[in-house]
Amino acid sequence: MVSFKGSAEVVVIGGGVIGLTIARSLAKRGVRDVCLLERAGLGSEASSAAGGMLLPQVEADGHDDFFALACRSRDLYPSLAAALHDETGIDIELDTTGTLYLALNEHDYEEIEKRYDWQTRAGLAVELLTSAVARELEPCISEATFGALLFPNDIQVENRRLVTALANSVDALGVKTMTETTVEALLIEGNQIRGVQTSRGDISCQTVVIAAGTWSSFLLQSAPTITPVRGQMVCLDSKPQLTRHVIFSPRGYLVPRQDGRLLAGSTSENAGFAKRVTAGGIVSILRQALEISPAVANLPIVDTWAGLRPRAADGLPVLGPCGEIDGLFYATGHYRNGILLAPLTAELISEAIVTGKTSPLLAPFSPDRFSSQPVLSV
Ligand SMILES: Cc1cc2nc3c(=O)[nH]c(=O)nc-3n(C[C@H](O)[C@H](O)[C@H](O)COP(=O)(O)OP(=O)(O)OC[C@H]3O[C@@H](n4cnc5c(N)ncnc54)[C@H](O)[C@@H]3O)c2cc1C
Repeated sequence: MVSFKGSAEVVVIGGGVIGLTIARSLAKRGVRDVCLLERAGLGSEASSAAGGMLLPQVEADGHDDFFALACRSRDLYPSLAAALHDETGIDIELDTTGTLYLALNEHDYEEIEKRYDWQTRAGLAVELLTSAVARELEPCISEATFGALLFPNDIQVENRRLVTALANSVDALGVKTMTETTVEALLIEGNQIRGVQTSRGDISCQTVVIAAGTWSSFLLQSAPTITPVRGQMVCLDSKPQLTRHVIFSPRGYLVPRQDGRLLAGSTSENAGFAKRVTAGGIVSILRQALEISPAVANLPIVDTWAGLRPRAADGLPVLGPCGEIDGLFYATGHYRNGILLAPLTAELISEAIVTGKTSPLLAPFSPDRFSSQPVLSV
């Protein structure tokens, strides 16, 4: 491997959707010398394992800062999809059919009624469907369906095409992307970032963004702890497609892709960094999928995979400048919603870097919320 010494204006660590969207946003805001460093291949971790669902409303039980962030980010997708198509010719298959959330027993039904109540009171788009209407909409769903919520604005994107489009976009915008390059340490003098030490040599810079997913805590001793939550997925072949909507239940989900793949997910496991598909995982996913639609039983399984969701201690994303080290920014901990949150994360982090002003939207997600010593601003 060739060793070198280089420099950049901003170094972004991690080539998943978060690092890629931030690098793109920085370049679009006129930062000329952005360097994106990725240990393996672009999108090789959670960003390709995901289901691509953009569902802030489906599981929300109230209006909080996270809900506001997630809705705003979802609503950026149509313009992101159009821009990426213009820039790269790639269609990221933003599918705006909407999502059905099924109640499959009495308890589920009580839950969906509560969700329907608060969301209609908040003026959000949601419909409560009888079992018959839901089955008319999607005949594949179980006869045991008690009722369903239809979320017309909760949609999906083909996340692997998104990664490819972002990779082409950053390339066209002049971002220097280095794959197979591991960041081994941050170079810090006093309380200022001076660069990064990589497996191919040092790169000096004044600004670093940590977007290394579930590996983000390894880069600095004082970093917020990010832990991996394993999610497994089963990919079925469904031609003609079983469903037009994304179908969610309190236990599992089905995501129809335009090419006939039907994704069934998922598990939520604390299994360390073992990115394995297990017999138990597949069994539980198939059980959840069959509960949604018995017709799944006839579909061939064509693929399975696992990915690691990056989770912070409180389950919320970690976003914004690090109070202790000048020039260091975090964009990590996106847990189950990194595809959903990528467009807004990129806007807010690149804005903070370029203007030096941190949006109030980021305040609840500050990395400093985990510091034992509160950081005082003067
Ligand atoms: C099964 C499953 C289903 C999911 N479904 C959805 C969904 O439907 N909707 C949704 O919004 N989210 C979903 N998610 C969550 C989503 O995938 C993640 O939140 C998101 O991909 C996180 O993106 P990221 O860029 O932070 O992390 P990653 O995609 O993991 O990227 C981090 C990158 O950093 C690199 N890296 C790490 N350390 C270093 C280093 N030292 N030097 C250089 N590079 C480094 C890694 O190689 C990796 O490529 C799902 C996740 C899983 C596993």
